[in-house]
Amino acid sequence: MKGFIKINKVLCKECHLCIVACPKGHIIAGREYNAQGYRPVCTREDRECNGCALCATMCPDIAIEVYRE
Ligand code: SF4
Ligand code: SF4
Repeated sequence: MKGFIKINKVLCKECHLCIVACPKGHIIAGREYNAQGYRPVCTREDRECNGCALCATMCPDIAIEVYRE
């Protein structure tokens, strides 16, 4: 199964729980600050998302949406 995620950069609070949860290494720390002073996470395009939704399940701020192909 393949998937992709959308990260809401306004809601993300940089806790990195999603990075720890992702079995594919698809999510990485971000470098750019948002208006709230956090650096939202990003994705690595060389590591495929499998659509498992562990990241969205772990996110306390409901900042990740998962789509399956
Ligand atoms: S859906 Fe699964 S594979 Fe995709 S980014 Fe989230 S935890 Fe990683
Ligand atoms: S778990 Fe949610 S709030 Fe925490 S870094 Fe990931 S997307 Fe941001």
